[in-house]
Amino acid sequence: GIAHDMNTETLLRTDRDHLIHPVSSWKDHEAAGARILRSGKGAWVTDSEGRDLLDGFSGLWCVNVGYGCQSVVDAATEQMSRLPYATGYFGFANEAAIALAGRLAAKAPGDLNRVFFSQGGSDAVDSALRFIRFYQHARGTPQKRHVIGLSRGYHGSTYTGAGLTALSVFHRDADVPLAWQHHIPSPYPYRHAGDGQPETIIAESVASLRRKVEELGADQVAAFFCEPIQGSGGVIVPPAGWLAAMRHTCTELGILFVADEVITGFGRTGPLFACETEQVVPDMMTVAKGLTAGYAPMGAVFMSDAIYTTIRDNTPAGVPIGHGMTYSAHPVSAAIGLAVLDLYEGGMLENGRRAGAHLAERLRAMADHPLIGDVRVSGLLAGIELVADKATKRKPAADLQLASTLSRAGYEAGILFRAFGDDIIGLAPPLCCSTAEIDLLCDRLYRVIDDLR
Ligand code: PLP
Repeated sequence: GIAHDMNTETLLRTDRDHLIHPVSSWKDHEAAGARILRSGKGAWVTDSEGRDLLDGFSGLWCVNVGYGCQSVVDAATEQMSRLPYATGYFGFANEAAIALAGRLAAKAPGDLNRVFFSQGGSDAVDSALRFIRFYQHARGTPQKRHVIGLSRGYHGSTYTGAGLTALSVFHRDADVPLAWQHHIPSPYPYRHAGDGQPETIIAESVASLRRKVEELGADQVAAFFCEPIQGSGGVIVPPAGWLAAMRHTCTELGILFVADEVITGFGRTGPLFACETEQVVPDMMTVAKGLTAGYAPMGAVFMSDAIYTTIRDNTPAGVPIGHGMTYSAHPVSAAIGLAVLDLYEGGMLENGRRAGAHLAERLRAMADHPLIGDVRVSGLLAGIELVADKATKRKPAADLQLASTLSRAGYEAGILFRAFGDDIIGLAPPLCCSTAEIDLLCDRLYRVIDDLR
């Protein structure tokens, strides 16, 4: 292809002059220039200088099956040659999307039997919010408009998703949250102001949700959204029992419980969906990332039979439910989704669980390092919280700008991970990792952290 004929210097200049990067400091990016990735195999990627990097973050927590899986490439190629596109509008459909919806419905918790395919996680969340509006109108409670999220939640960067997100970067100059969007404090065991006991943390979250619903009026609140583990908020793992308690509270309050499994879905925490760990059945669930393992864009909204039939039965025949995109249920993405699901079922989930157990063991062994305040791991999703002082949990000084130092040092050491704020390292290695690769990742990461001293 033409891009491969461009030399690195031309690529860097063209990138600087023309390509707008997502969630980046435009100034810093222009100053530093891009790190251009060129190829990948298994858990490894290679940059334009030929440097091999062990990808401890699966791209952006999405390449769960690893790079270069031939069966996925073959499925995409076959679908692309046979039928690269088909609309789902006007009564049309494509085979791959139908098959994928059927297989996913069989795997999803409880009665989450209806699947709408989006292009990624942000528009899955936005779609869920739209479907919730349709549902409230359909059941004759249109005044139930308010939606509640968590104070460290991330739900994408569409207009509505950025508002439901509570991270300041996504609110800055964006005039969100919107008037109907609210947040309650996140469960955060390591920085809990009280005794830090699981029961206390769970009771506080339940009380916060109850209080917020009471304040807004139960007849005014539509839904509560949460990630089973908050990812972009700093890989915050709530205590066991938290998710089930929040689900239960939503049922009691008569509001919908929506699980955003964009990161946690597809084996990231061990099972196919993180909700399974606590036998939680949400009313809606959003997924993306691992759905296609990053080989092509796709997300999905799962909705319960009850929500689906309510909307269907209260909309006259001949009146379209006005939500959809040109690329909803794209056949190539769906074919990829089927091939990826084959891999998960063919041993990848199991391998991920094995690698995750090893990662937990290795990271816990690192936790006595003076700069490491907290280590939290669920499957192959991990957060390492750095502190200036272990006893007081004092955060590292902001002027140290640890995030950029860390990612630079990691790159030099040949590993990729994510640094959140200036104090949290996020890891999300591919499920295909061997224990030797987990060892290498941890060895290199330990040296990167130790060099900060
Ligand atoms: N929801 C969650 C929990 C996410 O982590 C993300 C992305 O990281 C999104 C939604 C948005 O997904 P996307 O970036 O595919 O639009």
